Amino acid sequence: MKTVNIMDVPFIHTDQSSFVSLIDERIQSKEKTFVITANPEIVMKAQEDPTFKQYIQKATYVTADGIGVVIGAKLLNDPLPGRVTGYDTMIQLLEKANKHHYSIYLLGAQPETLEKTKANIEKDYPNVKIVGSHDGFFDWKNNQIADEIDQLKPDMTFVALGVPRQEKWIAENIDRFSHGIFIGIGGSFDVIAG
Ligand code: UDP
Repeated sequence: MKTVNIMDVPFIHTDQSSFVSLIDERIQSKEKTFVITANPEIVMKAQEDPTFKQYIQKATYVTADGIGVVIGAKLLNDPLPGRVTGYDTMIQLLEKANKHHYSIYLLGAQPETLEKTKANIEKDYPNVKIVGSHDGFFDWKNNQIADEIDQLKPDMTFVALGVPRQEKWIAENIDRFSHGIFIGIGGSFDVIAG
């Protein structure tokens, strides 16, 4: 898969719908996948923070979430097809999940936001199996959430803890899981909750 390097961050050269199709194929072939949707702030963070840079290196794909990244690639004479955002990726993955009856786990946000997010997903995507969820305010020393995900084996785990917490959580736990898509999607639960 072609990538465009911006300050050592390898952005996948794809558009939104091709990226979601690629992820869908990886779900069907049970290939474990870690997605970071990165804006210019994340590119800067990777320069300043070596630990965050390691999370980027651990990701299967880094997508261009932000027009600043697309403009940066153009200035480097290595253009990207367009933005691939966390929110749009989540919505389009929910559509795939509804079509194929995939299972999902939701991690993050305030408890009330999480409940509203679940209710809206159940209403709009009735074939999606929400196998588990946990709000985003927990003790990081407690491994219960990762244990639960390991047992439930969801096809998709959406992690809404904000940057850089969501990337840190996925990077620190992904080795325990056998398969599934793990993606940090920032404030998307707040949007879906309405
Ligand atoms: N969040 C969370 N746990 C935390 C901090 C934030 O679950 O310890 C959630 C927050 O409730 C919101 C999402 O993460 O749903 C995005 O938060 P924020 O807007 O602070 O992140 P950013 O937009 O900077 O990525």
